Amino acid sequence: MVFRAELVDRGPVRGTMVIRPYGYRIWELLQADLDARIKATGHQNAYFPLLIPESYLQREAEHVEGFAPELAVVSHAGGKDLEEPLIIRPTSETVIGEMMAKWINSHRDLPLLLNQWANVVRWEMRPRMFLRTTEFLWQEGHTAHTDAADAMRETMLALEFYQDLAVQAAAMPTVPGEKTPSERFAGAERTFTIEGMMRDGRALQSGTSHFMGTNFAAAFGVDYTAESGSLELCHTTSWGMSTRMIGGVIMTHGDDKGLVLPPALAPYQVVIVPIGRGEQAQEALPTARELAGTLQRAGIRTHVDDRFQLSPGFKFNDWEMRGVPIRLELGPRDLAVGTALMARRLSYPPQGGKEQGRGKQPVPLFSAAATLSAELAAFQAMLLQRATDFRDRHTVIVNSWPEFAVAVASGWALALHCGDKSCEDEIKAETTATPRCIPLDGEPDSGSCVRCGQPASYGKRLIFGRAY
Ligand SMILES: [Zn+2]
Repeated sequence: MVFRAELVDRGPVRGTMVIRPYGYRIWELLQADLDARIKATGHQNAYFPLLIPESYLQREAEHVEGFAPELAVVSHAGGKDLEEPLIIRPTSETVIGEMMAKWINSHRDLPLLLNQWANVVRWEMRPRMFLRTTEFLWQEGHTAHTDAADAMRETMLALEFYQDLAVQAAAMPTVPGEKTPSERFAGAERTFTIEGMMRDGRALQSGTSHFMGTNFAAAFGVDYTAESGSLELCHTTSWGMSTRMIGGVIMTHGDDKGLVLPPALAPYQVVIVPIGRGEQAQEALPTARELAGTLQRAGIRTHVDDRFQLSPGFKFNDWEMRGVPIRLELGPRDLAVGTALMARRLSYPPQGGKEQGRGKQPVPLFSAAATLSAELAAFQAMLLQRATDFRDRHTVIVNSWPEFAVAVASGWALALHCGDKSCEDEIKAETTATPRCIPLDGEPDSGSCVRCGQPASYGKRLIFGRAY
């Protein structure tokens, strides 16, 4: 579907992704939203080099161990072998740590709140467009703080950006939570995530925020002189969201007809299709253009489909497949009475029940901007409701191993777990499910591990699911 909808194409190097204009526009809309949230909370954008000396990665032992299998290394450049190989950044903690050590001297330099929009490379054995590509686009926030409490506040603030973006823009009812130790970022003390449920019941990690403690500060000498005059190590954080989020949008809302885009992220929120063949359709074109202008001035991203060689039926299917929330049909009969015929990409009754056929509805042209603004807001809210209902229907509280196995076959299991890595590994080997997160808002609960019967850890239930 991502190829048919012209979001992406395969790059010449296996696992790489060409993002086509329709797909890139979605990224730009996500990016603009998140960038505003990042800047509004005092962070500044900067840019760091793509090439990182190999020795930098080796300074943080867990970090290099975690990333080693997926590194791309430049060993030859300028016509000769390099004395020190260079890593193409898989993430930028190391180079940013090096620069922070240089820039931070006193407590007055803290907190240092940086963000970078960039591409990263992680060699991918099983590539999949948007979800796992060898090169992808993302933002990575990197911050340094005087103490652990301030760094933890920052870690949770970044998680909140992601959760708000997912819910408000992507209409994805993601669950914020903490990763278990075995699922942590390489080198982090604590890792937090937002987990979304896709329409096949699988989980997608959609953004992560890491509390590094003093691990990276110690490795790179990021220290400061405190008010008391003593030399102290900084506490650092990092957090990232990537083009993977577009994969999340597609798999949260899409159906058998194709994409379903939330209006907040749709390149075209409304497409106007002049109806009729040849001259008939030409007659509707000036009104279609005028209507598009009116809608655009009202802040609605509108497109007029003037491909007259194609039949209206073909165009309807095409825009449905490409996920446009609302289509307006403008034919001779509509023109005569001053209306356009509105069709929604899908409708979903808030009081439950089945998704219904898409009934068309006439919209008076003179009030179209107000009507469509309201319709788009309703469509956005409907998608969130639908995805939330879906997630809740496919999330089951389980207390036994047979129940667990059934639940993770089609969705998520809320289960108690002992916290042992070997027990997590057994669960994964048998069901391919992994602990997705310890939900932040989970109710206190205790008992025995769903798998091994040992006393449960964490004081609450974990979400288990099969993940992308
Ligand atoms: Zn166990």
